[in-house]
Amino acid sequence: MFLDLCGIDLEKKVAEISKEERSKVVNLLKDFRITPIKLDDWDKAIVTAGGVNIKEIDPTTMKSKIVENLYFAGEIIDVYGPTGGYNLQICWSTGILAARS
Ligand SMILES: Cc1cc2nc3c(=O)[nH]c(=O)nc-3n(C[C@H](O)[C@H](O)[C@H](O)COP(=O)(O)OP(=O)(O)OC[C@H]3O[C@@H](n4cnc5c(N)ncnc54)[C@H](O)[C@@H]3O)c2cc1C
Repeated sequence: MFLDLCGIDLEKKVAEISKEERSKVVNLLKDFRITPIKLDDWDKAIVTAGGVNIKEIDPTTMKSKIVENLYFAGEIIDVYGPTGGYNLQICWSTGILAARS
């Protein structure tokens, strides 16, 4: 697909690629733009935004400021980060804190 976008004939051998075509490859590698057009559906969701407002939770215990003896951990709380471990860390950290409290 990449070579297609560069306009390079896929039947060509590497040695047959011209200087201009190599230039196109380099330029596209350095400036490859993707425009997201929509979100994927619920089945593919990785993390949820929304949930219990952190202002309603004591951050030192994860205890609800509103309901007695109610503690929160993980996805139910309105915090999230980019994919890459932040969300799991949020779940583990809030989970252990709630459990110890
Ligand atoms: C495909 C995918 C990829 C992901 N990749 C990453 C990643 O790379 N990095 C990252 O940081 N995060 C990632 N996440 C997000 C991360 O996995 C979640 O944020 C985290 O697992 C949430 O943990 P949790 O314990 O809060 O909730 P969950 O893991 O959803 O646990 C909730 C549990 O409660 C149970 N449950 C639900 N209702 C009831 C009920 N009524 N009674 C009893 N039990 C119930 C469920 O069965 C479930 O076991 C990914 C998520 C998905 C779906």
